[in-house]
Amino acid sequence: MSATDQVLPLVRPEILALTPYSSARKEAKNVAPGGRRVWLDANENPQTPSAHAPLLNRYPEPQPSDLVDRLGSLYGVAPRQTLVTRGSDEGIDLLLRAFCRAGQDAILITPPTYGMYAVAAAIQGARVVPVPLIREKDFALDADAVLAAWTPAVKLVFLCSPNNPTGGLLDRRESLRLIRALLGRSVVVVDEAYLEFSGAPSFAAEITAQPNLVVLRTLSKAFGLAGARCGVTLADPAVIGVLQNIIAPYPVPAPVRQAALTALTPAGIAAARESAAALADGRRALASALARLPSVRRVWPSDANFVLVEMADAGRAMTAARAAGLIVRDRSREPGLANCLRITAGLPDENQFVLEVLRHV
Ligand SMILES: *Cc1c(COP(=O)(O)O)cnc(C)c1O
Repeated sequence: MSATDQVLPLVRPEILALTPYSSARKEAKNVAPGGRRVWLDANENPQTPSAHAPLLNRYPEPQPSDLVDRLGSLYGVAPRQTLVTRGSDEGIDLLLRAFCRAGQDAILITPPTYGMYAVAAAIQGARVVPVPLIREKDFALDADAVLAAWTPAVKLVFLCSPNNPTGGLLDRRESLRLIRALLGRSVVVVDEAYLEFSGAPSFAAEITAQPNLVVLRTLSKAFGLAGARCGVTLADPAVIGVLQNIIAPYPVPAPVRQAALTALTPAGIAAARESAAALADGRRALASALARLPSVRRVWPSDANFVLVEMADAGRAMTAARAAGLIVRDRSREPGLANCLRITAGLPDENQFVLEVLRHV
């Protein structure tokens, strides 16, 4: 069976049958090369309102080829395996819409994990099958439990590694075992939003061998471009093709392309690596200092730029934090996370501030 045959049968039939919107910029591809270009195909204004670069009067390329090339080489995959989206959150949404029929299909998640998977499922009308991470083993993946909980309704399995909000990497071998076992049965989505902080290898290298694997990356965290909304979905070209048919016509605004291209120059990539390494150092220092505070019960091991901290009393800690102007994430109402806060590692003085505030709880 070809790679494509292993994964396209999982796509919603009505999406496979869809005639996608053909934008002006897509059709313009067929113009003969060279010579004069007169752009009268997209009802644009021929003049731009300001002298700012880039010129904003024109619709952008649906998938700017220079950006796709740079992202592909950054993540070690081919351009045909790469889709640029408005944050990786849009990648999650597109996957739900492509694979899950409302009222019939389901996704499988491993809580506690990133909240958008369940939200995107709810929006699409897909069920959520939860298979909790093993808390006693520092929130390890329970691959056997995932396989036991799997049903044919499960079209997508979301693995987040390093996992948000617990912070740890999922075991690579167990994850691979799942991906292999689910070939032809489910797409496994590995969300690597925090991978740069971990030093661990990406699952992107497995995409060619595993057509049911999708990897999500983002420029929001290590690259410091959360405001630009630039995420990347890496997958088999057949899956990328399906997602391309349902994504909004021009998802990469020209200023976003410009910001991302600048971040992805050799100097930009080196700066992001340095920044990620510094933040990971800061997180290590923060974690060990937090562990020594009397108000802290436990700090979970983290491979990301944040730590999950179990407080003696999360309510009191949040009250103190709010009073001091410190904003951290209260996860204490989630199953398995009683009294837990998620704290992002910031600049050294910001980490120091966290310690001062929580020392007096
Ligand atoms: C932050 C985060 C994202 C979202 O990234 P965007 O690219 O900003 O949409 C995706 N997954 C996880 C696990 C995250 O924590």
